[in-house]
Amino acid sequence: MSLPPGFLDELRARVPISEIVGRRVTWDARKSSAARGDFWACCPFHEEKSPSFHVDDRKGFYHCFGCHASGDAIKFLTERENMGFMDAVEELARAAGMEMPARDPAVAERAEKRRGLAEWMEAAAAFYRTQLKGARAADARAYIARRGVSAATQARFEIGYAPPDRRALTEHLSARGAPIQALLDAGLSAQSDHGAPYDRFIDRIIFPIRDAQGACIAFGGRAMAAGAKAKYLNSPQTPLFDKSRTLFNIGPAREAAGRVKSLIVAEGYMDVIALVEAGLAHAVAPLGTAITEQQLVMMWRLADEPVIALDGDAAGLAAAARVIDVALPLLGPGKALRFALLPQGRDPDDLIRAEGVAAMRAVLEAAEPLVALLWRRETEGQSFDSPERRAALDARLRALLARIGDASVRDHYRAALAERRAALFRPAGMRSGAGPWTPRKGPFKRGAPVLEGPVAATKSSALARARSSAAEMRGREAAILLALLRCPSLIEACAEEIAVTEFTQPDLDPLRRVLISAVADGGAVSTQALCALLDAAAGRDAAALLEAAAPAAQIGFAASGADAALAETALRESLARQQSESTLRREVAEAEAALGGPGAQDGSGAQDGSGMAPGVGLAIDGRLKLAAAAAQRDLCGAAITEDGDEAHLSEALRSAIEREIWVRKPRRRGDATN
Ligand SMILES: [Zn+2]
Repeated sequence: MSLPPGFLDELRARVPISEIVGRRVTWDARKSSAARGDFWACCPFHEEKSPSFHVDDRKGFYHCFGCHASGDAIKFLTERENMGFMDAVEELARAAGMEMPARDPAVAERAEKRRGLAEWMEAAAAFYRTQLKGARAADARAYIARRGVSAATQARFEIGYAPPDRRALTEHLSARGAPIQALLDAGLSAQSDHGAPYDRFIDRIIFPIRDAQGACIAFGGRAMAAGAKAKYLNSPQTPLFDKSRTLFNIGPAREAAGRVKSLIVAEGYMDVIALVEAGLAHAVAPLGTAITEQQLVMMWRLADEPVIALDGDAAGLAAAARVIDVALPLLGPGKALRFALLPQGRDPDDLIRAEGVAAMRAVLEAAEPLVALLWRRETEGQSFDSPERRAALDARLRALLARIGDASVRDHYRAALAERRAALFRPAGMRSGAGPWTPRKGPFKRGAPVLEGPVAATKSSALARARSSAAEMRGREAAILLALLRCPSLIEACAEEIAVTEFTQPDLDPLRRVLISAVADGGAVSTQALCALLDAAAGRDAAALLEAAAPAAQIGFAASGADAALAETALRESLARQQSESTLRREVAEAEAALGGPGAQDGSGAQDGSGMAPGVGLAIDGRLKLAAAAAQRDLCGAAITEDGDEAHLSEALRSAIEREIWVRKPRRRGDATN
């Protein structure tokens, strides 16, 4: 039997080749990138130890650089599995959720019929284009000009006009041999119970809607008459047109999205046209429906992280909420969404015309990730002042997490939500640690809520820029120890802080305890004596260990003017940061436990080998910024530059220690704070 034309293309487009090949090989995690649709494995066609078998989802092809086997998904199945051609097609069809023509002869018939209808659609598109040039289309042309659509864009989108007489198109196509039934089936004509067929589109500006292969499958029409029942009208569902599986401008956008690695999803075709006119060619829109599952899958074929542009009003947020629900089960590595919320009451068309494309780009740039919108939806405008309300939120979040299909994505969402939850529930100004020490001028003012807040955290925000890696934590801990070792008087000065500040590194924390007990025993301690104690505890040259672990970049070796008081302040800040991190780690682990995450099992919430849950660094970074800012104020600018970041404090500390200022000049509190 023969397959209907386009059937194989549709199969290949619907099923990523990695899905078929991935059932038979094990991807090399280091070399592969699911986000890019780029996979490597040891070749299933020849024996090898290192992966030279490449699978490219975008091209739909595999290629082995060792034995030069190559082909598409069907070839893979026929060659590797020795399947017959039709069996391979059948497996693909199953993966795509499509009916096999062999099992359903009606499909072939429908394909034949579609081909017939498609011809009349093209004829209609040509008719409408011609009509836009006519005398009766003056108002339509004026409207298009008012919307700022250039002649080039008008031609590109093949904009046309349906004249005001009720039977213009029907009669035009009938005269060319179109059967009335075909016009009705294509949705070009309509018919009441007894009357004669009439045109579906009357006195409207017409936008042809084409599928990914460029075939005209439907029309959208914008009413010219002020009293029209519907301002926008689309073709009905037809054998050609399934609106839940169609995106306006998908063909041209696919090409542009491949170039710029991004995709904009607008609300309607006028928005798409405005975006394309402004040079943003990678734009699509659903057609008069909420975004469907099938449309999301189509978008992810075009870009890993489509940006959904919505009006920032209540309706826009409600639309975003619906998209979130559709998207959760489908999220996966390289399948994310962002939401760009436009100024209230604006659509891309309005915004670009009023403020230019730069304003639109800024909105897209500030797009929020799905998890941020999800959090806003679940928390904004609500109060969580009772245990019952908090428990209800936890239950909702757990239910949402359960809907995420991909286990790895689910874990990351759990961590991200746990972090936000920890910030939301954290009592104002309270540390959950039970240490006796309280910062003199801590960054967290009592009574002032330290909320990350359920509002916009954009990808460009300071919070998102950095997160403390395991290496950074280790570097800071080693640097603190090194400072104490080189300048033992600091141990006594900051004894309480050191005593309550736990270190995350199993080999460094014992050294901290050794230093504390050495001082607690009383009597003067020298660097030399401490070195001997640490060497014994570490079972090796402790100073060398610390120097290796505290890289220049972490503590800042650059020498600059600093003095004893400043060094002490810098050390205190380092300790405060260290303590913030361990406090936060504990809070997030507790939150994760509440959300049924990894913290529930082992109490640590560790995900990535750093000993910290993913995302913890974001909130920590926020606290560090506060701490740094507070320190900057305290120090009245001495040796601290304006941005007050950690490196400057570290640098001051390092500099003071390197110069061994303690030896020549005893510590004088207050020097730097004049
Ligand atoms: Zn090979």
